[in-house]
Parts: sequence; C-alpha cells; structure tokens
Amino acid sequence: MDYEKYVATHEFAHTLTYQEKYKSFVDADMKKIKKFNESVKELYKDYQKELYDLFEESRQLDIKFVMDTSSYTEADINRRKYLAERMNNITISKYANENEEEFMAEAFADYKLGIEKSKYSIKVGKLIDEVFRR
Ligand SMILES: [Zn+2]
Repeated sequence: MDYEKYVATHEFAHTLTYQEKYKSFVDADMKKIKKFNESVKELYKDYQKELYDLFEESRQLDIKFVMDTSSYTEADINRRKYLAERMNNITISKYANENEEEFMAEAFADYKLGIEKSKYSIKVGKLIDEVFRR
C-alpha cells in the first residue's frame, strides 16, 4: 500500500466527523454526523466482539495444546487454523483498536486501498458513501 495515499485517506475520513467537535461550523449537519457516529460505534463494538471471541477460542486451544498435548486432535488443529484465518481476514490494523475514530479512519483507508479488505472496512466504507457522498 502506498503510504502517502494511505495517510491522506485516513486523515480524510477524520475530517468527515470533525464538525461535531467544532460546532461553530455553519453548514455542518450535526444530526447526520451523530447518527453516523452511532453506527460506527455499533460496528466497532461488533468488530471488537468478533475478534475477541475468535482470539479467546484460539487461546483456549493453545492452552489445550500446551497443557494437554495428547488430547489435541486433528479437528483442533484445523479449528485453530480456521480461527487464525478468520482473525486475519477480519483484522483491519492494530491502530483500528485504538478507539472508534481510529477504527473508522483505518476501516475507510482499508476500504479504499486495501487488497484484502476486512468485512468491517466494507461496512464502514459503504456507510460513509451512503451518509457523506453527494
Ligand atoms: Zn487517525
């Protein structure tokens, strides 16, 4: 990914909601931005929950592997691989876990520039297109 393009796209996403912080902007449609932020919050929650659940199940399998190796089955191996793949597909970036705003900006950059886009990036990107495109 082209780093400068990535930075510009990430920062652009932030400007979409800056208006809420600087309410003196005359033309800002606060209702629209508030509703958008609420939707992002929900997606961020879903994102974290799904990643956490995958991580936790993986961790339990790793514990089983280390503590109880003889009972670790072929099915466990395959499940662990599947979980790792799912986590990899869903993860947007480390920075996306910082907070809702970074999640939104990272997801948008992934939506625009990513090669293997997270399904959450696609959801956020489509939401941005829907709400802000004119
Ligand atoms: Zn940022």
